[in-house]
Amino acid sequence: MTYNFAFLDEDTKRMLRRALLKAVAIPGYQVPFGSREMPLPYGWGTGGIQVTAALLGPDDVLKVIDQGADDTTNAVNIRRFFARVAGVTTTERTAEATLIQTRHRIPETSLREDQILVFQVPEPEPLRTLEPREAETRTLHALADYGLMHVKLYEDIAQYGHIATSYDYPVLVDGRFLTSPSPIPKFDNPKLDHSPALMLFGAGREKRLYAIPPYTKVESLAFEDHPFEIQRWEHQCELCGSGESYLDEVIVDDRGTRMFVCSDTDFCGQRRAEVQA
Ligand SMILES: [Zn+2]
Repeated sequence: MTYNFAFLDEDTKRMLRRALLKAVAIPGYQVPFGSREMPLPYGWGTGGIQVTAALLGPDDVLKVIDQGADDTTNAVNIRRFFARVAGVTTTERTAEATLIQTRHRIPETSLREDQILVFQVPEPEPLRTLEPREAETRTLHALADYGLMHVKLYEDIAQYGHIATSYDYPVLVDGRFLTSPSPIPKFDNPKLDHSPALMLFGAGREKRLYAIPPYTKVESLAFEDHPFEIQRWEHQCELCGSGESYLDEVIVDDRGTRMFVCSDTDFCGQRRAEVQA
């Protein structure tokens, strides 16, 4: 069986690229697009896959991560899918990739101008849990009226003493559009600000694309007396000893013994290789 290069037909890819150009031109603005059926169910990253398919060229090197890891089901299958339908080279090394599709993390290794990060987005509308009506959220974006979100964060402070949102933490892109960074931990939010790499977001089920162009100002919402803070751990990675990376807590035996390890498997592996060398 032969496939069109990168699975999608050329007209669909052209439609996606037009939508992506508009998204880059209006940072943080959600652009509608004609989302296609993909050979994976919604929730498996169909938005990200369509964006990746529209961008891939024969010389690209693709990396796919899920929660920071290259070896989880979602990442392995998307990587295998593009190796089959586009014949592109794949890698687990962040530094070697030209295009990185991700679910729920930004790599620890700093990205470059010649790299593109594609996010899988389940819910592109940051106001959705606060306002279910699509027409109403569109109006709020048009008016840049984000009081609802500030009230929500304030209620967190009133109830818990701090802002309890730990992932999908809302950001203001280029001082204009309130944007969902997709469900990345807020630990990763600072990496969005003035990133040299182009960041593209695709929501397949919701049929929306948006973008954060390189070197765009991205602010995490906060208050003067409650500034934005990222997660910190009392532990270090038990495999590589990193004290700066995002850590996952894993249970390693039947007695419930826990250990903390880097969520970014490539970053952790590179550090261990350096120690051994
Ligand atoms: Zn580590």
